[in-house]
Amino acid sequence: MKTAIIIGAGPAGLTAAYYLLKETDIKPVIIEKDNVVGGLSRTVNFEGNRMDIGGHRFFTKNDEVAALWEKLLPPQGALALDDKLLGRHVELVQGGADPEQCDAVFLNRKRISRIFYLRHFFAYPVSLGWETIRNLGLSRMAGICFSYLQAVLKKRQENNLEDFMINRFGRRLYEIFFEKYTEKVWGRHPRDIGADWGSQRIKGVSISKVLSDFLQRALRIKRQESEASLIEKFRYPKYGPGQLWEKMCDEVMAMGGEIRMGCEAVELLPGTSGDLAGVVYECGNGRERLDADYVISSMPISQLLHTLLGSGVPDEVQAIGDKLPYRDFMTAGLLVDRLEIDNQTHHKTLGNIVPDCWIYIQEPDVKLGRLQVFNNWSPYLVESPESKVWLGLEYFCQQGDEMWQMQDADFLAFAAGELEKIGIIRHNCVEKGCVVRMEKAYPAYFGSYKDFGKVREYLDTIPNLYCIGRNGQHRYNNMDHSMLTAIEAVRVIKSGSQDKRALWQVNTEENYHEVRQKG
Ligand SMILES: Cc1cc2nc3c(=O)[nH]c(=O)nc-3n(C[C@H](O)[C@H](O)[C@H](O)COP(=O)(O)OP(=O)(O)OC[C@H]3O[C@@H](n4cnc5c(N)ncnc54)[C@H](O)[C@@H]3O)c2cc1C
Repeated sequence: MKTAIIIGAGPAGLTAAYYLLKETDIKPVIIEKDNVVGGLSRTVNFEGNRMDIGGHRFFTKNDEVAALWEKLLPPQGALALDDKLLGRHVELVQGGADPEQCDAVFLNRKRISRIFYLRHFFAYPVSLGWETIRNLGLSRMAGICFSYLQAVLKKRQENNLEDFMINRFGRRLYEIFFEKYTEKVWGRHPRDIGADWGSQRIKGVSISKVLSDFLQRALRIKRQESEASLIEKFRYPKYGPGQLWEKMCDEVMAMGGEIRMGCEAVELLPGTSGDLAGVVYECGNGRERLDADYVISSMPISQLLHTLLGSGVPDEVQAIGDKLPYRDFMTAGLLVDRLEIDNQTHHKTLGNIVPDCWIYIQEPDVKLGRLQVFNNWSPYLVESPESKVWLGLEYFCQQGDEMWQMQDADFLAFAAGELEKIGIIRHNCVEKGCVVRMEKAYPAYFGSYKDFGKVREYLDTIPNLYCIGRNGQHRYNNMDHSMLTAIEAVRVIKSGSQDKRALWQVNTEENYHEVRQKG
């Protein structure tokens, strides 16, 4: 029997194993360096309160992925705890699972997310409503209009992202809503990011669109449509995204797949004809070698190149790989008794907390990037959803920087202090908290990424190596994209072809990302 070694038990690696078992007679062996499955899409359980790293909405345009999700977790057939208590209407599927009775169920949730700036809420994406005008104040609004007119009359040459944004929004609006936030997310000033990043990521948003939307709403032409567009629906496992990946892992093992947890792939061994012969991995008890017919990798490309020790990676390719940029991520989970901000919307919530799943923190006086309100993702993530609020404070950082190196207790105190500073909680409302650090949460598209084609070209010359997933392809792949790269890899293996283009073609449609134009 042939063997495929799969590096990583995130969505991509698990899907590759699942499809190999379903569609071929190749045996998958997954090597995972952590002790949990799900990768970036795991769920962390802190004393009965579950945390989703980043907040993972399940949405896809691909029917095959949608059907597989539904096979793993049945759709919702009865009201969830909060919907029941609040009398909220939710789309239910006849014969679907009852979240109050069983654990395996996909909930139907509403996405509400807003921007917090000047200690006020703004619609996301920014829209020009009376509320926006009132919150910004007349003098700021006048400045925005004036600088927008300037930008219309005199276009800048687009040498960087700053030029790109000023040309489209005017300097004032750019300074308020984009400049500092981009710096928070990417750790770089927009002046140091290429203009092409803007054309790839900021599609379909422009002042003229915002203005026409405002006029239509002012004239009450478009009211219903624009309100609906702020509230998108998404699916979400009762206990967070990790629940689905744990289920898939169980299925893989039940079908005869193997998963070696706590094992890190450190070397991919060269074969005799430019291919790979196997993998050396490090576990608690030393190094082991495993021979393979195929190697499917979801590990970060920068690391992958270093494991190809005997394969003669060209110096130029190695140098590009070494300089591929990433952004790392820290979350402080805080369990609090109450929030200091009121729910002034018409959306009903348990404890009348704000209805947002997450809030973009645009305030320039804090480093906090986003605030997750886990109660609104699923009440089952929180041990006492009626009396406690379970928050995730998200910080974009760089592995090894000052924030990354903070002791957990110091980081929790710092994070709680920031939330108090902007008036969202009082320090003495924090009951307890935990810290999660995630390396390489965002593969970045600047620096040596411009030469990434050469890396891909080289990796494709190794006939039995398949690069899948998010960091495995150095692309902002969402869960569904990551799964699709794995499905394509299995199909290429199955067909006996050496043409890997289909793997790299997944997610080349740009307006389809988890954080849209905000990063
Ligand atoms: C903040 C944030 C929000 C997101 N929101 C969404 C969303 O709303 N919807 C959505 O669909 N997607 C979202 N995503 C994207 C989603 O997390 C990824 O698409 C998905 O997790 C990628 O799966 P993967 O298997 O490619 O990689 P990962 O999830 O990164 O898994 C890779 C696995 O490989 C393991 N590994 C790495 N190196 C080695 C090695 N040398 N040896 C052994 N194991 C190794 C890692 O430990 C990890 O478990 C979000 C991501 C982030 C960061």
